Amino acid sequence: MDELRDLYQQTILDHNRSPRNFGSLENPNRSAEGDNPICGDRLSLQLEVDADGRVTDVRFHGKGCAISTASASLMTESVKGRTRDEIESTFDRFHQLVTVGPPEEAGVAELGKLAVFSGVSEYPIRVKCATLAWHTLRAALNQTGDVARTE
Ligand code: ZN
Repeated sequence: MDELRDLYQQTILDHNRSPRNFGSLENPNRSAEGDNPICGDRLSLQLEVDADGRVTDVRFHGKGCAISTASASLMTESVKGRTRDEIESTFDRFHQLVTVGPPEEAGVAELGKLAVFSGVSEYPIRVKCATLAWHTLRAALNQTGDVARTE
């Protein structure tokens, strides 16, 4: 279990140091801002969504703690090429992971690399850091134009 934790820690540090899909898109058709005032995490998210509701490309930028940056990075990897329904299902499982802990075996498999955030459930203050990118993604998909706040 300690080895697994080290591996999880390494993945989070790696995605914080070298966030994937960091930057801007040329022609986004959805976007949203995210703000977690408790920790000072802020991010901007841009999406390209096709006519079938599939996310074909995604970028983010912003400043935040290691958990929020790594979560945004891993979220962008997770959602590219997927539909809104698939994304909602993953967000539900991810939310369960970081609030109550790892779900049953099948749920962990669906989470893939996102399972690295399983330790967050032991630190309630960090839940908002880990879920900010996902709340922002939901706001972008719903295109409410609102800032996704964790408060
Ligand atoms: Zn944070």
